[in-house]
Amino acid sequence: MALMTGDQFVESIRKMNMKIYMFGEKVENPVDNPILRPSLNSVKATYDLAQMPEYEDLMTVTSSITGEKINRFCHIHQSTEDLVKKVKMQRLCGQKTASCFQRCVGMDAFNSEYSTTYEIDKAHGTNYHQNFLNYMKFVQENDLTVDGAMTDPKGDRSLSPSNQADPDMYLRVVERRPDGVVVRGAKAHQTGICNSQEVIVMPTIALSPEDKDYAISFAVPVDAEGIIMIIGRQSCDTRKLEGSSIDVGNSEFGGVEALTIFEDVFVPNDRIFLNGETEFAGMLVERFAGYHRQSYGGCKVGVGDVLIGAAALAADYNGAQKASHVKDKLIEMTHLNETLYSSGIACSAEGHKTESGNYIIDLLLANVCKQNVTRFPYEIARLAEDIAGGLMVTAPSEKDLRDPEIGPYIEKYLKGINAVSTENRLKILRLIENLTLGTAAVGYRTESMHGAGSPQAQRIMISRQGNINGKKELAKAIAKITE
Ligand code: SF4
Ligand code: FE
Repeated sequence: MALMTGDQFVESIRKMNMKIYMFGEKVENPVDNPILRPSLNSVKATYDLAQMPEYEDLMTVTSSITGEKINRFCHIHQSTEDLVKKVKMQRLCGQKTASCFQRCVGMDAFNSEYSTTYEIDKAHGTNYHQNFLNYMKFVQENDLTVDGAMTDPKGDRSLSPSNQADPDMYLRVVERRPDGVVVRGAKAHQTGICNSQEVIVMPTIALSPEDKDYAISFAVPVDAEGIIMIIGRQSCDTRKLEGSSIDVGNSEFGGVEALTIFEDVFVPNDRIFLNGETEFAGMLVERFAGYHRQSYGGCKVGVGDVLIGAAALAADYNGAQKASHVKDKLIEMTHLNETLYSSGIACSAEGHKTESGNYIIDLLLANVCKQNVTRFPYEIARLAEDIAGGLMVTAPSEKDLRDPEIGPYIEKYLKGINAVSTENRLKILRLIENLTLGTAAVGYRTESMHGAGSPQAQRIMISRQGNINGKKELAKAIAKITE
């Protein structure tokens, strides 16, 4: 089944036997859970959109491995055009879900594993690239969603993995067997893992030789024995239990993160992509981070499009749309959003072929892209809140609006222009609240800061890639300095 429908995807998740905990209880039916379901719907959208003829060119592609038509989220990029289309696809998915649709981490893990395993094999005569190719074939043939797990809890940041008071603060191999390895540790902030069939685990930092047991990368099903997910809280998450689609702002879609525990999980040999070759951990991290920093130049821009539209509607609905400062704020929001998109497209267009044959982004530009993402969505959100006005955070609930006694007061006094219902005005304000302060704020605001690496991580890469010495030579040549 090279392309699954959205409904088939949901049913495939239903069949899994994941250990998920939320609010101190095991979630027996995550698929129909009102807090988790919107995030599943966002991943489902990546399947639904791939079925629509108008999005075929962005959402699907011919596989370089199987020759079949596959979802682009499972693709190994074959050109800079593929890299550009990836960003455009992510913008589309952001526009359609107004949330994190979660499937990109797997795509970014595929492409970084593809090139890194090739280079490890070349240096060490190992068999990781073939392992990975077999795995990719399985993923593409079954149109799977795969979580990419990188972030270890890290404990004391001043100490290396093997020097931590608790050696499990970074995920590691605790037992080596003839048929595989046993791993223990945790991965924090796992976006979408409970909506995935599989997880690819990677190290989180460059490693030195004494950290050999931490240089491990592999793939396992998310319901493998020993994997436990603990769902993270989001602002306003329990509103989803109240049954009001107006009050949640975005009733259909959302994102979800989980602290994921690997309690002595067995990994068979053919699912291992790195095992002890410490000098390649940094390459894998750098490439995965680079691809995911490119991704943010697509997904956050798509969500930004929805937020800009919502702010413009809020102004329309209270008659402020012609005020020059409102127009100017919308221009500024658009300028910032398109600047993010520009760097997402630029790092893709400037990509290049790796030794293995797949394409990678320009790392400097991808890091610049993500560095901009740590700032601009905050300003876009600030301007949206400015245009929305205070009612965005003081509006009464849908229940009050529906109440026969007090509802008419809300209808009357919270009305904006005559042509628009109070209900529609409140819907738009709740959407802005959801994107800037509610459940989607995880994906739009704070994930913009920390997802794909916190700002300082990009600044380190920018300093490494920025070629200051080359620039000094340029200045010397112009100034006619010859020493
Ligand atoms: Fe995809 Fe963006 Fe979510 Fe990352 S944050 S998984 S790039 S939607
Ligand atoms: Fe993310």
